[in-house]
Amino acid sequence: EPVIHLEQITKEYRMGEETVRALRGVDLRIAPNELIAIMGPSGSGKSTLMNILGCLDTPNSGRYWLEGHDVARLSQSQLARVRGDRIGFVFQTFELLPRQSALRNVELPLIYAGARDRRERAVEALRRVGLGDRMEHRPAQLSGGQRQRVAIARALVHRPSILLADEPTGNLDTQTGDQILRLFTALHAQGQTIVIVTHEPDVAARCRRVVRVRDGRVEFDAANVGPALER
Ligand code: ADP
Ligand code: ADP
Repeated sequence: EPVIHLEQITKEYRMGEETVRALRGVDLRIAPNELIAIMGPSGSGKSTLMNILGCLDTPNSGRYWLEGHDVARLSQSQLARVRGDRIGFVFQTFELLPRQSALRNVELPLIYAGARDRRERAVEALRRVGLGDRMEHRPAQLSGGQRQRVAIARALVHRPSILLADEPTGNLDTQTGDQILRLFTALHAQGQTIVIVTHEPDVAARCRRVVRVRDGRVEFDAANVGPALER
């Protein structure tokens, strides 16, 4: 069973008199333990697609099954739990709380969720991303790459079924970005399902599957073109 199954998803934004058709019938299946890059020019619908995948926004039409559950049928509280728990978000700008330690940043989602063994789980997540020795540092005391590692630990701490990363290397230099990519590759090797939105061909080249979005449609899906283009 796919982790994610989208069928003919459309999304429109009303802008006064005008309607922007951001997604025009997107079909997408993501199996467990895929590592996928979503590419496409600015304005093609990538952010809209990520927002829908992350249950942060709802489509105008089409169906979305997440781990077999029809997202449209979830109650508000179930949706909130899915967002907090089944999906891990990683952003270009890290979005860490500046006054809190790395450990506290990773622990906070567990505190909100009222989870048990919070400290132990946050420590484990930070060790997983190679930051076992930086747990008491605040974001300003960490490098960009280390900040992104904290954000990845925070995204992983709930053991989400899918990690959604929006331009995760966009604010990092090439070498640091490469280290973050290697971390994603390692997490993927441990079984994590990962979707990365990226402008960078180098990033996409590290992913097993590349989905290219253009004008609100899937223009190209490497998983659909057979072995010739497989890496
Ligand atoms: P990308 O992430 O690929 O740059 P977006 O999903 O942000 O693309 O945008 C797709 C289209 O939808 C663009 O034409 C954009 O201007 C429009 N759009 C995105 N978000 C909104 C919004 N909140 N309101 C109105 N139009 C939007
Ligand atoms: P990205 O850098 O990911 O492509 P964008 O610059 O397209 O992001 O959009 C940044 C934010 O602004 C997103 O949340 C998107 O939904 C929103 N947005 C994009 N285009 C528009 C628009 N035309 N009107 C209102 N909001 C928009």
